[in-house]
Amino acid sequence: MHLRDRVIRAAARVDRDPDTVTIVAVSKGFSRSAVDAAYDAGFRVFGENRVQEIREKYALPCPTDAQIHFIGSLQTNKVAQLLPFIHLLETLDRPELVRSLQRHLEPQDRVLPVMLQVNISGETQKSGASPQAALTLLEEAISAPNLSPVGLMTMAPLNADEATLRSVFGGLRTLRDELQERTGQALLSLSMGMSNDFEIAIEEGATHVRLGRALFGERS
Ligand SMILES: *Cc1c(COP(=O)(O)O)cnc(C)c1O
Repeated sequence: MHLRDRVIRAAARVDRDPDTVTIVAVSKGFSRSAVDAAYDAGFRVFGENRVQEIREKYALPCPTDAQIHFIGSLQTNKVAQLLPFIHLLETLDRPELVRSLQRHLEPQDRVLPVMLQVNISGETQKSGASPQAALTLLEEAISAPNLSPVGLMTMAPLNADEATLRSVFGGLRTLRDELQERTGQALLSLSMGMSNDFEIAIEEGATHVRLGRALFGERS
């Protein structure tokens, strides 16, 4: 079954409008021609996680209706190089990064949409702010005039069982609800679910599913 049909079925199971779910085509590790083919097949949002790879791959810009989401961990010394290429940062994970982004965006008079990456599962090797740190991080992002917080992002543990996946994805949604309530900031986007678990993520409220292997095949 085509990916889009799997999205539609998962959304239907929980009475959601499938148009509220965006597939982020995770093209990291794949060539520009793979991106262009995916664009021709109708995908418009691409996920990348390495600054150097982005600079090479998108030296020739994509059509203006394509968007690049950065989904990797971002060092502050790479912010200036990255900003010209991306439309949204999914991995805002620490106050230091808020300050660096604000400093670079302000002179350009540019507002960047961001998602806060939260480590819901608590695995120590996972990046992302802890759920406890998320409120402070969100408040910092709200007070940065050139950042626009739009939602939350998380990664589930690899090879987790369904109950664990549901508790991680449901946990991100619950945290989102709490943060919205406490700050008054609308956080409509929930980026969660990858090739192995995106249907469960959609049932739990994902607005963005990040699909690499399911779309492009195995990375070498
Ligand atoms: C690589 C990656 C994905 C895509 O993973 P697949 O298993 O290939 O679908 C999604 N999100 C992030 C943050 C990634 O680094």
